[in-house]
Amino acid sequence: MVGSLQTERSVALVAGAGGFIGGWLTKRLLETGHHVRCADIKPLAAWWQRHPQAENLALDLRDPAACRHAVAGCSHVYNLAADMGGMGYIETHKANCMLSVLINTNLLLASREAAVARYFFASSACVYAADKQVDTAVTPLREADAYPAMPEDGYGWEKLFSERMCRHFREDFGLPTVCARYHNVYGPYSSWNDGREKAPAAICRKVIMAKNAGERHIEIWGDGRQTRSFMYIDDCIKGTLDLVERNIAVPVNLGSAELVTIDQLTGMVEAIAGITLQRRYNTSAPQGVRGRNSDNTLLRSLLDWEPAIPLRTGLEKTYRWIEGQISAAAASPAGTAS
Ligand code: NAD
Repeated sequence: MVGSLQTERSVALVAGAGGFIGGWLTKRLLETGHHVRCADIKPLAAWWQRHPQAENLALDLRDPAACRHAVAGCSHVYNLAADMGGMGYIETHKANCMLSVLINTNLLLASREAAVARYFFASSACVYAADKQVDTAVTPLREADAYPAMPEDGYGWEKLFSERMCRHFREDFGLPTVCARYHNVYGPYSSWNDGREKAPAAICRKVIMAKNAGERHIEIWGDGRQTRSFMYIDDCIKGTLDLVERNIAVPVNLGSAELVTIDQLTGMVEAIAGITLQRRYNTSAPQGVRGRNSDNTLLRSLLDWEPAIPLRTGLEKTYRWIEGQISAAAASPAGTAS
C-alpha cells in the first residue's frame, strides 16, 4: 500500500484510477475542485496518469479490507476497476474477467457500511444478448435488450450480474447506485500494445508501425465488415458525471451512435497517417459480435445530451498520442517506453 488517507466526507474514490477512464475521471474531478482518492492494483509507476493532487493508493480491491480502507470517509465511489481489455483479452481470460465481481461486491459492501452518497459502476455494452448482434446492419441496442440474458461469455456475465447487484443494493439497502453501459471508449492514455488494447488503438498502432517501417500492408482482425461505434473519452467522462449527478436508478447506455465498419475505421486512420495500406484479413482472430451500436433514446431523455465528438476528431488525438508513445519507445535505450 502506498500513500495516506484523508477522512473528509467530500472525497471521491476513483477505483481503477491507474487505468484509462479512471485516470481521465480523476483529472476532471480535480479540475472541478473535488478531493480525490485514487486506488488501483497496479504499482503507481504503471498508472497511465498519476495526479499528484490526489491521494494515490496501490490496493487490490478484490480484498474486503482494502475496499473498506479505500472507501472510508468518501462521499462518492466510482468503480472503474476491472480486469479487462479488448476482444483479444476478454475472449482468452474469462475467469479473470469474472473475478472482477469481487471488486464490485466488496466495494458495494464497504460503500453501504460507509453510507456513501453515490456509487457508480462502469458496466458495458457486452451485457447485451448475443442474438441481438448477429448482423452488421445492427438495430441499435436499447437497454431492454439485455434480457433475456445471453451476454458476452465471462466479461459480459460479470457486468450484468454486478449491475444487477447494484440495483438490489439500491432497492434493498437504499444505496444510491448508478450504472452506465459504456460502448467502446477510446482516447489517449489507454492500452495500445500490451494485449489489452481495443480496435481504435490497435489500428492506430498498426498503421503507424507500417508507416514507420515502410511496409505496405496491415493485418485486420475479422473481415473488416463488422460494425461498431466508438465514444471519445471526453464524452464518456461528461456522461458519467451527469448520470451520477442526477442519481439515475437504471442502467443507461453511454456510447456514440456513429456506426462504422472496421474497414471505415481503418480508412480514417490511414487518412490521418496520409497512407493507404493493403489489408490482410485474419478471420480466425477474436472479433466479438457482428454488429453493435448504442440506442441513446433513454440517455437523451435523461440528460438532453448524447456523445457527439466525431470519430475522426477523437482518432486524430489518439493517433498522435500513440505516435508519441512509439517514438518514445524507439528513442529509449531498451526500446520499451510506453
Ligand atoms: P483499464 O484496464 O484501463 O482500467 C481498469 C483498471 O482497473 C486498471 O488500471 C487495473 O489495474 C485496475 N484493476 C484491475 N483489477 C483491480 C483490482 N483487483 N484492484 C484495483 N484495481 C484493479 O480499463 P478502462 O478502459 O479504463 O475501463 C474502466 C471500466 O470501464 C472497467 O470497468 C471496464 O470494464 C469498463 N468499460 C470500459 C470500456 C472501454 O471501452 N474502455 C467499455 C465498457 C466498459
